[in-house]
Amino acid sequence: MPTYQDPFSRCKLCGQDGSTPTYRLDKGEIYRCPHCDFHFLNQLDGNVDAEDAGLSSAGRRYIESRVAEGEHLHPLRLRLVQQHCSIDKAMTLDIGAGLGQFVRLMQQQGATALGIEPSTLRRAYALEAYGLELDHRLADGGYWQNGHSQSFDLITLWDVIEHVDDPRSTLAAAATLLKPGGLICLDTPDREVFSYRLSQIVNRLSSGTLPLFFSQFYSTVRYGHKQIFTRRQITELLQDCGLVPAPVHLDGPAKRAFSGKIVLTARKPTPHSPLPTPHSPLPTPHSPLPTPHSLSPLTSNARYRGLPASQQFCAIIFFNL
Ligand SMILES: [Zn+2]
Repeated sequence: MPTYQDPFSRCKLCGQDGSTPTYRLDKGEIYRCPHCDFHFLNQLDGNVDAEDAGLSSAGRRYIESRVAEGEHLHPLRLRLVQQHCSIDKAMTLDIGAGLGQFVRLMQQQGATALGIEPSTLRRAYALEAYGLELDHRLADGGYWQNGHSQSFDLITLWDVIEHVDDPRSTLAAAATLLKPGGLICLDTPDREVFSYRLSQIVNRLSSGTLPLFFSQFYSTVRYGHKQIFTRRQITELLQDCGLVPAPVHLDGPAKRAFSGKIVLTARKPTPHSPLPTPHSPLPTPHSPLPTPHSLSPLTSNARYRGLPASQQFCAIIFFNL
């Protein structure tokens, strides 16, 4: 008799078997890999051509509710890109272009800017609102991989890598499409924020009955968030794809706007530049602070280990109310 093989037991990040459902949501479960500690949802979009036809009035209302967010973030993303590369006359590709707002900004800056967007709804909006024709074919498919290798100076993935079915395949595909010396810029939610860590604790203690903030990090709807990275995990994945990642310094409005996110650039080496060292350590932004003496009996508990002292204190207060 054939034995059942859980399709999600294979880790999306390291490829090893053994991932198990560890945190429970109202719909779906978050799997954890015991080898690399990757967290991912048991949900895939699959065939993206099979759904969401056209711009209905309900679809339009949803899309229009998302416009303001893009209008706020994309100029800050543009400034970030401009700090790292020249855009005028550059060939650029926005993977997961959404409503097309960033592609439009790049075109206004003199770039030849293309965009990939699998959602029919969003493509319809981009065409109607900006006259932009976004491409529905995924970056790791034959159209791009066979015809556009080493074609782009800049590839952006804004709030995208947490949405895709296979983040390793998507970033490897982006690396192939990049010219030597070209740049990838991305942002994605940070798994090391307090609300995520607190949700892990609460979910475990409540035997999965309380998702707490997990519902803000993951979603089982089509194109929803399927995996949330730590800084180290996304950095190492970029390195595995042959890229040289670098943390981005943020200040002023950008620091506030990207709060709770990881923002990274990664450059493709040229034949003359040194190859990246695999998995070289990056500074950890959330290194634990010294534990106050008065809290030591509680904070020695493994549940709170790794949290900064101020967050440990909040967690302790929370659980002792
Ligand atoms: Zn793994």
